[in-house]
Amino acid sequence: VYTVRITIVKRTVIAALLLAALPIVARTRAVRSVPAPPPLRSVMWIGAHPDDESIIAPLLALYCREQRASCTMLILTRGERGPCLLAGGCHEDLASVRSDEAAAAAQYFNANLILLTLPDGGGVTPPPWANAESAIGTVAGEIAATNPDAIFTFDPRHGTTCHPDHRATASLVLDAVARLAHPPQVYFLETRLHIDASPFGMRFARATSSNAVLRFDASARWSAIIDDMKRHPSQFDDAWLNAVEQIPIAYRAVYIAPAPAILGETIAEGCD
Ligand SMILES: [Zn+2]
Repeated sequence: VYTVRITIVKRTVIAALLLAALPIVARTRAVRSVPAPPPLRSVMWIGAHPDDESIIAPLLALYCREQRASCTMLILTRGERGPCLLAGGCHEDLASVRSDEAAAAAQYFNANLILLTLPDGGGVTPPPWANAESAIGTVAGEIAATNPDAIFTFDPRHGTTCHPDHRATASLVLDAVARLAHPPQVYFLETRLHIDASPFGMRFARATSSNAVLRFDASARWSAIIDDMKRHPSQFDDAWLNAVEQIPIAYRAVYIAPAPAILGETIAEGCD
């Protein structure tokens, strides 16, 4: 695994605005009473493709832009098997175009970008690096070096969109964290994204009614999704941007859950 490490922002002073991270809350009742996202001084987003953070962009905007948490984005592939929506094509190739887009998105979030070059699985079958020992070791090493308060990633059971790369990424994170002496808290993204083809549109829904899920009201920061998507023009054209803007206020939310709590509950995969 070759690593392209692009340091967008190097921060030597972290604003100590926030309280210490919440202790790990066991199970559902305590989580339900949390009225706001957990206070975090450092955050790591781990995704499969350069545009995956768009779904959690309002929460990253809160932590990384407003609260000035120390943020890192670890992206496992360069998304080279995705579409190219640029009118003029994607030159030299999609991997390089999307690498640049990842850098632009990381800059938007004031985040350090760690962009790996694992192969994009393409979306039909699990990627070749699913459960791979070398990939687990690489991810564990990056997490240990970053040492964040918390990691946000997909839920391995549905991957938000059911993309096998998303699910494999989450599994790698769990396997990697299990090896660490001081593992950070892991939160799963419990938003399910449904794309309607005709007419083109999308819906954001919570993956489960479990009380372990925290609903983050994203209505005040919905524009962060638009801002992030605009940094991935090879993936999102006006139809996409319009679809996001069409989401009713009441549905503008990001759902997260602490991994230990939500893994203890059954969630319908719903991917077939
Ligand atoms: Zn993706």
